[in-house]
Amino acid sequence: MFGNLFGKKKQPKTQCSICKSLLEYKEGFALTTSQVVVSKEYWDNKMVEPETMVYTTNHFKKKDENATKMRGIIFEKTAEKEHTWLTCDTCIKQFDVDIEQAVSFAEEWWKNSGQVDMPHTGKASDHLAPAAYDKMRTYAMMDAGASKIRL
Ligand SMILES: [Zn+2]
Repeated sequence: MFGNLFGKKKQPKTQCSICKSLLEYKEGFALTTSQVVVSKEYWDNKMVEPETMVYTTNHFKKKDENATKMRGIIFEKTAEKEHTWLTCDTCIKQFDVDIEQAVSFAEEWWKNSGQVDMPHTGKASDHLAPAAYDKMRTYAMMDAGASKIRL
């Protein structure tokens, strides 16, 4: 029975936590939520995705307070994530992290079905100093994506 379950089972796959592209077994780079949220480049991309673009446009072009508030909420929802992120080759470029470490934690992620004992795993607010957290929240809410939309 186990031979059947494990022997013939196809290699597991997963999606990049950011762009949803497919990752094959042992591929990818593992990141913690705090590593993700301190990247300005991540926010510049995130705030011009199809789901967030309307808030970004209204924030910059109409000075719409609700849109600004939504951008703050998007930051908070992201910062609350407790899971380990697994990114593809393209998305990892947005982050200034130790690549070797991100690769070895990704391998561990695959071996242990998504469980990784990575330092600083969990909500960003548990690991970032309040000033650093607020600085990134302000960036995501007020400035992110500005260079990518026509003002
Ligand atoms: Zn990706």
